[in-house]
Amino acid sequence: MTPYETIKRKRDGGELTRRELQTFVESYLDGGVADYQMSAFLMAVYFRGMTTQETVWLTSVMLESGRTMDLSALGSPRIDKHSTGGVGDKLSLIVAPVAAACGVRVPMISGRGLGHTGGTLDKLESIPGLSTDFSEEAFERIVSDIGFAIVGQSESVAPADRRMYALRDVTATVECVPLIVASILSKKLAADLEGLVLDVKVGRGAFMPDTEKGRELARALIDTASSLGLPARALLTDMNAPVGRAVGNALEVAESLEVLRGGGPDDVRETSLALAAAMVHVGGLAESATQAHGLAAAALDEGRALERFRDFVNAQGGEARVVDDPGLLPRAAVTRAVASASNGFVRSVDALAVGRASVRLGAGRLRLGDPVDPAVGIVIAAPVGTKVEQGEPLAVIHAATDVAADEAVDVVLGAFDVGEEPPEKRATIIGDLGGPSQDDA
Ligand code: URA
Repeated sequence: MTPYETIKRKRDGGELTRRELQTFVESYLDGGVADYQMSAFLMAVYFRGMTTQETVWLTSVMLESGRTMDLSALGSPRIDKHSTGGVGDKLSLIVAPVAAACGVRVPMISGRGLGHTGGTLDKLESIPGLSTDFSEEAFERIVSDIGFAIVGQSESVAPADRRMYALRDVTATVECVPLIVASILSKKLAADLEGLVLDVKVGRGAFMPDTEKGRELARALIDTASSLGLPARALLTDMNAPVGRAVGNALEVAESLEVLRGGGPDDVRETSLALAAAMVHVGGLAESATQAHGLAAAALDEGRALERFRDFVNAQGGEARVVDDPGLLPRAAVTRAVASASNGFVRSVDALAVGRASVRLGAGRLRLGDPVDPAVGIVIAAPVGTKVEQGEPLAVIHAATDVAADEAVDVVLGAFDVGEEPPEKRATIIGDLGGPSQDDA
């Protein structure tokens, strides 16, 4: 079948075979399928979708475009956590050390911020000296010594995804369930995991705008992963307002350290513990969901997770004094408060608007490869539900220059809806798929 015929068949709603998908993806990597043909194919998938079987095949074809690690020497259980991407989403920085302190081996391969969402690697690299670029041997040694390591994806992992994701990013084909599933799982399956916990974000600041779409993505991720032999569980979490209060790389590291010290915003603590507990449970280290949660909470509250984080910073070459003194993190030259224009309650904070404002300040990138400024970002002073008086700060902008701060003020102000009535309380964790929804003790 020629590339033209494969594209046409998908365009007309047909189901492709494994062989057709394999030939198409392999030819793309060899140069036999051009970027414009792959773009047309991706758009056809966007509109026509894929069956579960096609999604499984596309995932395995993309996985086989690179190599799979052998991390079996690390022992069990090897479990990773992956988020579909959000604003202020620093949860990996807390979840990984908590899970490691409970006995999970966490070989975490993370990404960089793209578009309005932040990336774990950018956040970690705001710690002076910390590297996220290690050989497979060094990565394995750090996980073996500390219980977790967080690194970037090597060139040899799912190269088809790297090229296809870059195209999706510029052809408006990112928000497509089978393409997201194949993209995420092709990379995760290469890391020789025994289980995967997914944080599927739902709402304004997420790829999935509503709970129904989020549930569809979570289900597809779990089904595809288990068809390929990887047990997976997914939490659906709210991404309408930023996660916690800090948005921006060093600002988020500082907030993560607060949570690792037993403080910090409630939503960050709650979601981190739920995700770490899911890893403990999927890994078979607890007999019930309640026991898993208790183990995770104890690791956090007894300071064992914080100690793991300190060891991790040391092992990855970072300045470990930051753990005790977050003041050593990069700091922005300018801070500017954004004042409320009226009295009332903060009814919503638009995560998408805050994420975009943070990118414009320099905390994120519009194109892969752009540099990021570790110091800049936005701290929410009045989260959803806060009663504010006119003139009180809603947020504080951390910027490199006065001009950048001035430009951000109106956008950040526009992200806040302040009204007379207090908002209804929203759940942080909206759903739990693929695991016991209730205690199974
Ligand atoms: N994260 C990924 O790795 N791929 C996607 O397609 C979306 C989020």
